Amino acid sequence: MTSERMAYINGAIVPESQATVSIRDRGFLQGDAVFDTTRTFGGKIFRLDEHLDRFYESLKYMRIDPRIPKARMAELTMEVLNANLPLLGEKDDFWVSQRVTRGVNVDGEYRPTVVIECAPLPFGARARYYRDGMPVVVPSVRRTPPEAHSPRAKVHNYVNLIQADLEVKAQNPIGWPILLDVNGNLAEGPGSNIFVVKNGTLITPREQMILAGISRRVTIELAQELGITVQEADIDLFDAYTADEAFVTSTSFCICPVSSVNGSPVGDGGVPGPMTDRLTRAYSGLVGVDVVDQYLSRLDD
Ligand code: PMP
Repeated sequence: MTSERMAYINGAIVPESQATVSIRDRGFLQGDAVFDTTRTFGGKIFRLDEHLDRFYESLKYMRIDPRIPKARMAELTMEVLNANLPLLGEKDDFWVSQRVTRGVNVDGEYRPTVVIECAPLPFGARARYYRDGMPVVVPSVRRTPPEAHSPRAKVHNYVNLIQADLEVKAQNPIGWPILLDVNGNLAEGPGSNIFVVKNGTLITPREQMILAGISRRVTIELAQELGITVQEADIDLFDAYTADEAFVTSTSFCICPVSSVNGSPVGDGGVPGPMTDRLTRAYSGLVGVDVVDQYLSRLDD
């Protein structure tokens, strides 16, 4: 058995070192590509169909035809995951991503490049956030507005979020960026949606200005099952500074508590707050893995 992870590229599953992309590929040249990422919990893939629905919507938005039907993309994803599962450590899990670039121009026609790959989740590097909470920092860079290109599509071009991250990390190496939208309301961070809790109500930004995370949807569903009132609404910095609790959601984080916003403690600064804790437990129950324990057990990595 090889110790190298396997990836799918343009019709074949090969060792990752052989899964290479042309220097003429539009994904490489211009970030002209679409992707989606789910993860495993205890080696089992999570909500693949929902991720592929979003993936094919992003492709449609970008007018890229992957030339592979969704059902086949699902089968190929499972083949790649199964090829890599023997390499999964006991407490590990994988990110599982599909990527399609506009590809290379051959005789005046672009042929898409299709990649499916797995990568280990960064439990050790992020474990401290579950112990201490995330110090959220709001950068001056605003989230790309729909007037430029829609943040609802999950595209490879992350320059907007990278600029935000660089600005935040220069101030606080463990700070987590949450960008404002162009109207001054909280939008999202690199790979993560934001929720605040105010007077028992859970509030998260509307879909128009953000990527609608699958974990965001899961969290909303769990909250509704628990009888918690959920609002999709504009949240400005006043709301963030006066929130009782705040957390981010993402495929990798699931639910991760926020301890402060721009240095101002959220609630009493203790994490997780009671509603965050309740929702996180419900999330763990749904996925069959104690998501906080999975991170905290890797604190010393
Ligand atoms: N916003 C952005 C910009 C993202 O890239 C992601 C990660 N896909 C998210 C939010 C969270 O989405 P999900 O819960 O589906 O991982």
